[in-house]
Amino acid sequence: MTTHREPLDSVLEAVGETPLVSVQAAPESVPVYAKLESFNPGASIKDRIGKYMVEAMLDRGDLEPGGTVIEPTAGNTGIGFAIAAGQLDVNAVFVVPERFSVEKQQLMAALGAEVINTPTDEGMGGAIDRAHQLADEMDGAVVPQQFANPLNVEAHYETTAPEIFDALDGEVGAVVAGCGTAGTLMGIAKYALEADPETHVAAVEPDGSLYSATKGADPEEAAYKIEGIGTHNPATNELFDPDLVDEVLQVPDRRAHEELRRLASEEGHLVASSAGAASAAARHVAERIRDGEIDAPHDSVVTIFPDSSERYLSKGIYRSFEEWEG
Ligand code: PMP
Repeated sequence: MTTHREPLDSVLEAVGETPLVSVQAAPESVPVYAKLESFNPGASIKDRIGKYMVEAMLDRGDLEPGGTVIEPTAGNTGIGFAIAAGQLDVNAVFVVPERFSVEKQQLMAALGAEVINTPTDEGMGGAIDRAHQLADEMDGAVVPQQFANPLNVEAHYETTAPEIFDALDGEVGAVVAGCGTAGTLMGIAKYALEADPETHVAAVEPDGSLYSATKGADPEEAAYKIEGIGTHNPATNELFDPDLVDEVLQVPDRRAHEELRRLASEEGHLVASSAGAASAAARHVAERIRDGEIDAPHDSVVTIFPDSSERYLSKGIYRSFEEWEG
């Protein structure tokens, strides 16, 4: 395991081993710890799956050196895959719905990848269909399919989760994380529930997203500004297993925005909207553990801050709520 105290041969070796930092606004008796994933070389949690999945596909022979990965992605996954592909002699093509941030698309291109846009109104579903169509037309191309590939969950089960458990000597009472593909939450939840089946697991989504329908709620679908989490069609998010989740917490855009700004001004975190949502939800879970409303095996909550606000400056992330484009 890398210590970051010795020289490394490649940025791929700098993926993971991110810091775990307390959220100071959480209740004193039930601390919240956030894993700061912007410390990865591509500045997001998705570097983990880029490295893990490209290496695993090469090992298994699903992908040959000189082959191509084609992935539908909101952006961070593209950056993670582009870094891994570039260092492992693989080409990368990404299919990105137009509404996602231009910074991410520029970074993917800088890393040597090709970026193809699909119309915003076709959503991630449109991007997924286009990626498969392109792969069918090309020799040696694979679609890793972060939305359906168990390797996405495995990457977090094998790396993110053990890092958290090591840092806290196994004392994790609740896991609270945003769900896009749900790979992050599922990998950590699976590990945590094996360690202690009583661990409280909460999924976080924006108001207007439909994950909570999988737990029997009847949410109203609406557009949201929070980027990177949520779904308009849970059927496309095949990795999400409601049986591993105690509850789905919905966070309004306004609350996530207020929290990401507070995290910067009070706690020095330059994190984006999915981290704002995760922090608000994790604090809420910690308060309910403190108040005896949730029975957790330990008085602690773990959450994830997936990426950095610098990636969203062009969308006015630090302007007023109304000016933030999301
Ligand atoms: N936050 C951001 C900014 C993301 O890009 C993603 C990935 N879509 C997530 C959170 C959610 O991660 P996961 O796909 O593992 O659920």
